[in-house]
Amino acid sequence: MTQRIAVYGGSFDPFHTGHLVPTVRAQETFKFDAVHFVPAGNPPHKQDEPLTPITHRLSMVALATLPYERFFASDDEVFVKGPTYTVATVRRYRERFPRALLYFLLGSDSFSQIATWESWRELVNLAHLVVLHRAHIWGPELRQRVPEELRSRLVDVEPFADVPDPTGQTVYLLNHDPFPVSATDVRQRQRQGFPIRELVPHEVNSYIEKYRLYRTDDES
Ligand code: ATP
Repeated sequence: MTQRIAVYGGSFDPFHTGHLVPTVRAQETFKFDAVHFVPAGNPPHKQDEPLTPITHRLSMVALATLPYERFFASDDEVFVKGPTYTVATVRRYRERFPRALLYFLLGSDSFSQIATWESWRELVNLAHLVVLHRAHIWGPELRQRVPEELRSRLVDVEPFADVPDPTGQTVYLLNHDPFPVSATDVRQRQRQGFPIRELVPHEVNSYIEKYRLYRTDDES
């Protein structure tokens, strides 16, 4: 039986329900054997914004995914020196699982900018993409922004649909209800002293509180 392995890269600063819930929908639809969440080491597009240390971001992913049997926190980019590129990470998964069906998960905002990613053509040939619905960009607007050469690969999928395994390289657009949460929003609310309980898994909420990750009034 062919394994289905998914990789989901992100800053996860912090990991929030907008990462988790759509991935649960994707898991229920595509029946992944494993989803590996890979906190980004030094993402080239976020060089001017300092990220929370990767040890904290990895810990939050590990805590949030603990209740989900098939979700895993990956330390793949922890020890990489210099800028970390998604394509290099996905290449390593391809090598690690040579016979598996490999998927890469990303939000529709990220997908709309895929043509700016390092070696993006290689990336879309290494893994099938599963695009998660991020509210502000979907439907015709998204299709219009997609590089021309990918348009014939787009396949709309409803959550829980019975999806046959792909034959050629495919970009799935998973039409789940959007989950309008962003890490920027979570960090800002925390700085302003507002609760973030409904925006992050409760384990992440406790972790952020304990280590006062996004507080400016730090007296710890
Ligand atoms: P920030 O606000 O700091 O830019 P973010 O909330 O976009 O962060 P990231 O960790 O940078 O989160 O995103 C990692 C991946 O998760 C990206 O592919 C992004 O599109 C996707 N993503 C983030 N939030 C959502 C969401 N609410 N719904 C769907 N996809 C999301």
